[in-house]
Amino acid sequence: MTDQPEKPPAPTGRAESREIIELRRLKEEQPDLSAAVDLQIELLQLQRRVQLRVPLPSIKLDTEYLNAQLPNGPILRFEHLPIDWSDVRFLLRATASAMRNHDALEAAEVRRVDEICRDASRLPLVLRSWYDSVRPGGGDIDPSAAGLETVFQQALRPVLTRCADAILAKTDLSRWHHHICPLCAGEPDLAVITRAAERFLICSRCAARWRFDQIACPFCLNDDRTKITSLASRDGRYRLSCCDSCRRYIKAFDARVGSRPVLPPVDGVATLPLDAAAIQRGYN
Ligand SMILES: [Zn+2]
Ligand SMILES: [Zn+2]
Repeated sequence: MTDQPEKPPAPTGRAESREIIELRRLKEEQPDLSAAVDLQIELLQLQRRVQLRVPLPSIKLDTEYLNAQLPNGPILRFEHLPIDWSDVRFLLRATASAMRNHDALEAAEVRRVDEICRDASRLPLVLRSWYDSVRPGGGDIDPSAAGLETVFQQALRPVLTRCADAILAKTDLSRWHHHICPLCAGEPDLAVITRAAERFLICSRCAARWRFDQIACPFCLNDDRTKITSLASRDGRYRLSCCDSCRRYIKAFDARVGSRPVLPPVDGVATLPLDAAAIQRGYN
């Protein structure tokens, strides 16, 4: 017996490698999820190619300033996003192509992405319409991009998570109790239940987290316990809160059960069987 660790320590500054390791493990444990895991790994690798060179958002990164913005609504505006258009075009096309290769996108949709990318004057308008469409009073998404929301969400992830990390480090979200993201106004698509039994919602776009009521539906705000149906995965690691009022549901990672922190790109794939169970019960 020696004190030597079995493996060298993981390199630092490569946050997504943990995600890729966990995704590979998931694939071994649940071969049914192979296709979804492979796609997610490919997307993470694409995003990583640009992630490290995304600059800071063009918003004043000052605690007093940011905290003062919060009562007016989500603080990260489209004009704050540090967008490099050639990177965005690359990511949009590569995301669409990866999704197509894994049967997650139709050929006609790939062509639509390509058309949007080819028109340099239109791309910013289309992207802004997608970004603002979730904001209260933000208008509709440009018709040319309708149905391509997932492609935009994945392609913009390096920019949005970079902005979120920079802003969250300086902002106190403890007084934000709304159901939408305090930064980008996105909807949550996952939650984490902490060891203190609090629930934090995780933004589907920028991955920001904020505390939210433990019971209420984050889509219609129904908080009548008798109108919330709960389901859990067999190992208890994941929970589903299904709203019988609006018929939507939110998934949660229960950190009291899991032996690792929540990793949205991993947990999103690991919960696909729960999505199927919810859809089968008529939720969406
Ligand atoms: Zn967000
Ligand atoms: Zn609801």
